[in-house]
Amino acid sequence: MIRRSFLAALAIAAAMPLAAWAQAPLKVVATTGMIADAVRQVGGDQVEVKGLMGPGVDPHAYRQTRSDIVAMTRADLVLWHGLYLEAQMEDFFEDLGRKQTVVAVAESVDNSKLRAHDDYADKYDPHIWMSPALWADVVTKVQETLTEARPEAAEIFAANAQVHLSELDALTAYAEQALTAVPEDSRVLLTAHDAFGYFGAAYGYEVMGVQGISTQSEAGLNRIGELVDTLVDRQLTAVFVESSVSDRSMRALIEGAAAKGHKVSVGGELYSDAMGEPGTYEGTYVGMLDHNITVIAGALGADVPDQGLNGKLSAGF
Ligand code: ZN
Repeated sequence: MIRRSFLAALAIAAAMPLAAWAQAPLKVVATTGMIADAVRQVGGDQVEVKGLMGPGVDPHAYRQTRSDIVAMTRADLVLWHGLYLEAQMEDFFEDLGRKQTVVAVAESVDNSKLRAHDDYADKYDPHIWMSPALWADVVTKVQETLTEARPEAAEIFAANAQVHLSELDALTAYAEQALTAVPEDSRVLLTAHDAFGYFGAAYGYEVMGVQGISTQSEAGLNRIGELVDTLVDRQLTAVFVESSVSDRSMRALIEGAAAKGHKVSVGGELYSDAMGEPGTYEGTYVGMLDHNITVIAGALGADVPDQGLNGKLSAGF
């Protein structure tokens, strides 16, 4: 008896260093909710994730708080988007990167897949999460980064990533089907800022933003007047508000069109640069995209399931 339990104890002790489950979770801090979600999907119970930017937070304008700094200095890994999305935090991350593992996950995407930035000749449009096919590259980068940090859990990360990547494939197929069911003349997406360039390119939509790729520049009256004319001339009837940008300019568009006798309404609220509430379906990457696809296709005239691809969207959008 004694001998057997001693051997069992030895076997457990020998297995311990290899058993990833026996270790404390990796502490990961991510800037956007979308990156935090990718880490949760791939990392599973191997990670403890803190996302810095909650619902409605604009990453173009966000600056790190004191508690963010504390969390980042205590983390095993810090992941940010890069591509000049977190424009106010660039210097901070450059500095932090000298002391810790800091990875700009979106900068791993092949440049040939990126869109030019309207405002800066040497930069790219950072809104790549709008295309699940492009976001898959970021998920793969997250998998690589987690694997480097904890090689013994490589198989777990690979299996989780595979499951999540197949969810992204399903999202792409749903987007193609729902968005091409919209009549061709109506495939126009008018939003508060230019977050939907990749979305438009992927699904054949013309996109127009009142503000540019960053939210940091105010929209001029000229731009509003120009877009009102477009709405009236092309008889477009829906514009979209964004959860992380003020709806002031969208209201100005609707009023401007009304003054010219053309009725425009809000097609819905989209999650552009931030996800929905934590703990809800819309508070996940898949739910965020499902919401956007379903709301856009539905408002522009396609017949879409009320609760979206997975039957999980809150009803009544
Ligand atoms: Zn943006």
